[in-house]
Amino acid sequence: MISFSDLGLGQKLLDALDAVGYKQPTPIQEGAIPHALAGKDVLGIAQTGTGKTASFTLPLIERLSKGRAKARMPRSLILSPTRELAAQIAENFDNYAKNTKLTKVLLIGGVAFGPQEEILNKGADVVIATPGRLLDQFERGKVLLNGVQILVIDEADRMLDMGFIPDIERILKTLPAQRQTLFFSATMPPEIKSLVDRFMNNPVRVEVSRPASTATTITQLVARVKDKTPAAKRDMLRKAIGRSGVKNGIIFCNRKRDVDTVARSLIKHGFSAAPIHGDLDQSTRTKTLDEFKSDTLRFLVASDVAARGLDIPAVSHVFNFDVPHNAEDYVHRIGRTGRAGLEGEAITIVGPSDDRNLAAVEKMLGKKIPSADFGDGAGSAPESAQADEPTPSRGRKRRPGKTDTEKSAAPAKSEKPDTDASEVPAAETRNAPKKPKPAPRRDRSSRGSARESGGENDNVKGFGDDTPAFFNIGQG
Ligand code: AMP
Repeated sequence: MISFSDLGLGQKLLDALDAVGYKQPTPIQEGAIPHALAGKDVLGIAQTGTGKTASFTLPLIERLSKGRAKARMPRSLILSPTRELAAQIAENFDNYAKNTKLTKVLLIGGVAFGPQEEILNKGADVVIATPGRLLDQFERGKVLLNGVQILVIDEADRMLDMGFIPDIERILKTLPAQRQTLFFSATMPPEIKSLVDRFMNNPVRVEVSRPASTATTITQLVARVKDKTPAAKRDMLRKAIGRSGVKNGIIFCNRKRDVDTVARSLIKHGFSAAPIHGDLDQSTRTKTLDEFKSDTLRFLVASDVAARGLDIPAVSHVFNFDVPHNAEDYVHRIGRTGRAGLEGEAITIVGPSDDRNLAAVEKMLGKKIPSADFGDGAGSAPESAQADEPTPSRGRKRRPGKTDTEKSAAPAKSEKPDTDASEVPAAETRNAPKKPKPAPRRDRSSRGSARESGGENDNVKGFGDDTPAFFNIGQG
């Protein structure tokens, strides 16, 4: 059994790891850490839940621990697509670096510039940033990037989804050519491959698959709704979430506006629910997430981008209010349940307009997802659309004193693509008010196997080939 000390990490880090209770490295850590410690570029193909954050944070701390921070000249830069993921990386950093003198600054939108600048002026070894805020601070001359020795790009494919690639390229061009790059992505679409080819130096590729033992505990079901009104879907959703055995869950919607509508509808019907998407301000999202983690809140209604990267422990259920346009998002969504050997259930509500997306998902899975019968599959019992129309001003039931999430503040200026925009068709966003951003995730089971190779020319495939093995199609 490989231990952290076998990977070449120093005593201070080993003590910190002991304190957080990690017993042994996960496959991505085992595969990436020795190469990263040796100063090589590493291309990690891994999704959240595999322990990827530690796989770049630990070697980064080890390598930086010898030097000193200089004012406004960080020695390393970690780029994250979302504020929440950035905040989680910062939390990880604090845990692992607690026995060192290293300092960090979190540069994310939605919070004041001042305190960030203060830390930068004093000198931070590590900048953890979303691209928009980093560029803002860079353009204001508050952060200089020519001292960056180690660059980490986390969730590159999410960056692509969110329209960050031009920003990333701009940032990459300002960094010293002589640096180490640790690059992580769950999948490798051509745009990401091109970035890797242009900006990495003969990277060692380490790929992990999702642990089969985790995914085989997910039972997948489809709940058909014949009526094409959203009210019929909401009715079906209430039936699905109202069953016994549903402890908590994430309800995914394709559109941000549905996230709000569904959350309000559930609250109206007495469920403990709250929305989370990129247009909500940071404090609201953090609060909602904390409540969900502490079991004060039972249902989180989320968009794909907002949910990506969220550090949510185990949920008993995932509900898809609609079938995602991108079949891979289905995999990400349902991966929120059935973690770490726990049993999970993923229920997908399928209306007439979801058929095509469902066919794509089933094609990817190589199987049909069985239908469930929750009493009335035709959606004929919903209250009238009128009656179900949620009341916007209504807060979360049973939780007085809460700030209504709809009242979120406007985003920080120019923190642009740090939003959910990519998941909303242009027509919907056009008239939408200007707003802020989205979020990230993780779990503890990480028993996937690591495959590693010496160059970047392998046939990269995300988790495409591994996918079918992850799933256990449940009995209808
Ligand atoms: P990540 O994939 O980085 O989002 O990490 C997923 C979760 O696994 C986080 O909650 C980490 O704290 C946890 N974790 C990371 N590495 C280990 C490890 N070696 N042993 C146990 N838990 C870990």
